[in-house]
Amino acid sequence: MPSLYLQGKGAIYHLGQKAFPYGDKAFVAGGKTALSVAGERVKKSLTSNGIEIVGWDDTVKECTHAVINKLVEECRHNKAHFIIGVGGGRAIDAAKAAAWKAKVPAITVGTQCATNADASGESVVYTDDHRFLEVLLLPRNPMLVIEDTEIISKAPPKFLVWGMGDALSCKFESEAYAKARHKRGDGEVPTSVALALGDQCYRSLLAHGQKAVNDAKNGILSLDVVDVIEAVKLSSALTFENSGCALAHALHNGLSRTGQVKGEHGEIVAYTTLVQMAYERRPKEEIRAVVKWCASVGLPTKLANLGTPSRSALRQAAEHACEHDPNGRNMPDKLKVPDVLDAIARVESEF
Ligand SMILES: [Zn+2]
Repeated sequence: MPSLYLQGKGAIYHLGQKAFPYGDKAFVAGGKTALSVAGERVKKSLTSNGIEIVGWDDTVKECTHAVINKLVEECRHNKAHFIIGVGGGRAIDAAKAAAWKAKVPAITVGTQCATNADASGESVVYTDDHRFLEVLLLPRNPMLVIEDTEIISKAPPKFLVWGMGDALSCKFESEAYAKARHKRGDGEVPTSVALALGDQCYRSLLAHGQKAVNDAKNGILSLDVVDVIEAVKLSSALTFENSGCALAHALHNGLSRTGQVKGEHGEIVAYTTLVQMAYERRPKEEIRAVVKWCASVGLPTKLANLGTPSRSALRQAAEHACEHDPNGRNMPDKLKVPDVLDAIARVESEF
């Protein structure tokens, strides 16, 4: 977990005061949009606390090895004491990886809610054309995570929806992961805190998600919006980091590889979470409640929402999930392709 997580309206103004223990030379990295939204507030908070901004890069669009290395060079050249990543998942992941390579602390400032990368201790690296390359497991999480609810609530509401879709999976995947580890007795059983947070995340999404999306559309920073930001940014991040992904992410990865599925990460994961629930033969009422919730917030509940992949593409995706994807091995029993295809068919026809 991060050393300090600060969430609230105007939280960004605490950045300088909370970052000061790590030095007085900051390197700020993010995308153009994020820094045009939050940049002035970042500057104000740092300089008013005696922190010099020795580097400023607003060109981070993707988390590639080239981008990470460029940030490392800039950080070293300017002798920065820490790196502040500002923005969405790609900028945050690039900044965290660069901080690790430059051996300085990472600080993250979220500007939208599509990702739970801000508090996590890993970076997902892509190629220049945004194909998945690898996950870098960093030796530690950011020292400081700032989530200014006012800034995040003003980002386009679709980000909130995508973030919720991804966060929805964490309860079900962490529970599957825990069952698998108990069964194998391999010592990597997740803490009860991780499981409790996954459950809390799920309850929060179902209780507040729909109102949060409506409020965000109307520009209202309600307690529902705040609860959902916490569920995505804190609860889901700490859950997945302290347990693991399972069928939902394995099948997401399989579907993405077919090239026949369209949709954002969180949209596909919401659907594959339904498939995992059907696969586990969870009670129908439980699955129906999640289907209803997904529909109410604008997340996919049927394959048709994701581009209707062919039967052979579905088989390929299921084979990837069962045979090749490491997340698939986090299910309590060995995944079988016919069972995964059957779960997909039941999500299509029964719910
Ligand atoms: Zn995810």
